[in-house]
Amino acid sequence: TKWVYGFGGGSAEGRSDMRELLGGKGANLAEMCNLGLPVPPGFTITTEVCTAFYDNDRAYPDGLNAEVETALASVEKHVGRKFGDAKDPLLVSVRSGARASMPGMMDTVLNLGLNDETVEGLATVSGDRRFAYDSYRRFIQMYGDVVLGVDHYHFEDILETVKEDKGVSLDTDMGADDWAEVVEAFKKKVKTELGEPFPQDPREQLWGAIGAVFGSWMNARANTYRRLHNIPASWGTAVNVQAMVFGNMGDDCATGVCFSRNPSTGEDRFYGEYLINAQGEDVVAGIRTPAPLTEIEKQESGSDLISMEAAMPVVFKELCDIREKLESHYRDMQDMEFTVESGKLYMLQTRAGKRTAKAALRIAVEMCRDGVISQEDAIRRVDPAQLDQLLHPTLDPEADRKVVGMGLPASPGAASGQIVFSAEAAEEWAGKGRKVVLVRIETSPEDIAGMHAAQGILTSRGGMTSHAAVVARGMGTPCVCGAGAVKIDYANKTMMSGGVTLKEGDVITLDGATGEVMLGEVATLKPDLSGDFSQLMEWADALRRLKIRTNAETPEEAETARGFGAEGIGLCRTEHMFFDPERIVSMREMILAETEKGRRAALAKLLPYQRQDFIDLFRIMKGLPVTIRLLDPPLHEFLPHGDAEIADVAKAAGVSEAIVKRRLLDLAEANPMLGHRGCRLGISYPEIYEMQARAIFEAAIEVSKDGGDPVIPEIMIPLIVGKKELEILKAAIINIAAQVEDEKGAKLKYLVGTMIELPRAALRAGEIAEEAEFFSFGTNDLTQTTFGLSRDDASRFLDTYISKDIFAGDPFVSLDQEGVGELVSIAAERGRATRGDIKLGICGEHGGDPASIAFCEAQGLDYVSCSPYRVPIARLAAAQAVL
Ligand code: PEP
Ligand code: MG
Repeated sequence: TKWVYGFGGGSAEGRSDMRELLGGKGANLAEMCNLGLPVPPGFTITTEVCTAFYDNDRAYPDGLNAEVETALASVEKHVGRKFGDAKDPLLVSVRSGARASMPGMMDTVLNLGLNDETVEGLATVSGDRRFAYDSYRRFIQMYGDVVLGVDHYHFEDILETVKEDKGVSLDTDMGADDWAEVVEAFKKKVKTELGEPFPQDPREQLWGAIGAVFGSWMNARANTYRRLHNIPASWGTAVNVQAMVFGNMGDDCATGVCFSRNPSTGEDRFYGEYLINAQGEDVVAGIRTPAPLTEIEKQESGSDLISMEAAMPVVFKELCDIREKLESHYRDMQDMEFTVESGKLYMLQTRAGKRTAKAALRIAVEMCRDGVISQEDAIRRVDPAQLDQLLHPTLDPEADRKVVGMGLPASPGAASGQIVFSAEAAEEWAGKGRKVVLVRIETSPEDIAGMHAAQGILTSRGGMTSHAAVVARGMGTPCVCGAGAVKIDYANKTMMSGGVTLKEGDVITLDGATGEVMLGEVATLKPDLSGDFSQLMEWADALRRLKIRTNAETPEEAETARGFGAEGIGLCRTEHMFFDPERIVSMREMILAETEKGRRAALAKLLPYQRQDFIDLFRIMKGLPVTIRLLDPPLHEFLPHGDAEIADVAKAAGVSEAIVKRRLLDLAEANPMLGHRGCRLGISYPEIYEMQARAIFEAAIEVSKDGGDPVIPEIMIPLIVGKKELEILKAAIINIAAQVEDEKGAKLKYLVGTMIELPRAALRAGEIAEEAEFFSFGTNDLTQTTFGLSRDDASRFLDTYISKDIFAGDPFVSLDQEGVGELVSIAAERGRATRGDIKLGICGEHGGDPASIAFCEAQGLDYVSCSPYRVPIARLAAAQAVL
């Protein structure tokens, strides 16, 4: 095996397509060399060494030492200096470089090779003793911290003390002798901290730094980062050793970072920052304010600093040429680092630049139009999840934020408003024209109107599929949920978070995309879905096979989803239609009735509402398929709480409150999610589904009179465990259809199908398909029941499961393809075996998750259905899934 790949002098042993072996940085340094760009020579120790290191008890593979020596000799030759030479030393930088960029995982070590002797050589050669000792003290500081584990603050303290003694406030006012004094004090500190002197042997320094980089691969910070970004530990990191160039040797030196296009807007204009007479770290550290690269940038930003274009026109021109060369070579926006040493330009890094969603769209669309990339590439280039940023008002990235709490990013978008602690207050305040944020420990279906009225929702309990999260996503309302550190006191109407106590009426801002809770109002930017956005969507639509439907029950949701390109409704949860204050009493009356007669009386009151609901939806969807799920309420969500509500129900039903209370006790369930819900209600009380079927059919006939495409409703039965339930309920529905046809003298077309959301139903899908004309996978319940994991409570320990690597992620967010996915796959196969043309879809929350959508594509499902604001994400993800 070859362990080390050299680069320099216009050629390299590696290439950009070797990033698995060389890491991103190493592969691109090699590529830049091959392109003939000015890159300081160096070498990359491969990721395979990292893997071997961990496989062999932290020992290096045989032959590595010799290869490093050879590569180092080659660098010496290119530079014309020798490593450790007391007169004219070669100095190197040592940096990590994994396959995927892992910013901040491991600090860089610069100026390696300096010691008490070589520092004098550097002083002589550079003719600048101050520079040499400044470099030496920077090296001891970095090496001490990163490699030797001597805490940063020790060095900071010493530096402050020396500066104070000398009456100096700026680093730039320190002279050569001052830095020499700092060096002595640093070395002494290292000795007292470690009991050993600072290593003087450059080779010992080099191996120390290499070992530290490999060691850092398994540190806690890196492990966390990898977990968050799904990077396997087995990838390993590479180590890049490269000849130093200095941007801090005088005013003809500089260092900077630049982007081939603007990373926040995507505009095709060179963009960057630089600092004269500085080392790379100074730009990042924010000690000095960097200056704009270009004149136009300088004018637009009103900066009074001198641009690189003006200060170093020749080097700037060279950098512009490199920008063009690299961008057309990589065919993507590049993020580059450079250093100018005594008027000569060096490239230190290039990589695909991180960008906002807006920039990603613009760059992809413009590069495609310019013939640089194909439509497929353009589609691949945009991260569907990132589109979320564009669909909601977002926080102005320039605005100040004072974060006081953190929860799950449950529903994206930014929301500011006055805090209220109840749904009633939310409605009342909003009714008076105020903007409110509803803060609750958790929400329940009764809070729906208040949730609608609120700009944003914050809960201290519950996960990504908690009631608050699901409903908020459906409404497109920003929501942060499960913010455990936020302490809510309903009695006193206060919340405590991040050491601040806030009361009703105080203003907070939520960022539903990050989970941040901030004090006061933070400025926002409006979404713009025309232009690049609609262009990319058009390309995606032409490519994808899966249809995209939406989960919607209100006209607003349906309209929003249509606006986002939904091709039908895949799930209309009818129980959500009954929370309106006018209807909830009749709904409760129905649930609490002890007799069929009582139920029928209540249902008769609900029928006209329900019919109108469907008329509205059918009109909005204009002949597109609409799947209506019959009632599926876990009863506890609907039962009245408190005396006032009980009194209301008693009055409506014309019975005593005592009777209602007794009935409540009868209905109480230990585990309502596994209780009397779904089709079990329809089986017990057929009149409920009969009313709903009637409302659907009457609405279909009514809307068909409008002309246009005929309405073909898809009626869906929830929570079946086998064929028998469906057989009974379908017969009842057909019967109602015949009645309505007779009454209205019209013909109906409709489908009857079922949700597959229990493992038994998935397994018995073969016979279920004898009755069902379609299946819709209810992966929320299917996940809950396959794992035996409560969708409302799992968030409490999910984090632990994820951090211990038991689960890769939250199975309620991204489908567990191995387990739940196998059930989906079995059901699809058995369903199709019975009924070749059975329509298959998914309507659990997973229907809007890109990875789950890829799985649905692989299973050959016909459509995915997701909340309205996820429709564009699903359109793009479905296109990517066929690439
Ligand atoms: C499901 O279980 O996946 C589903 C869509 O139904 P609900 O979330 O309403 O239970
Ligand atoms: Mg369900």
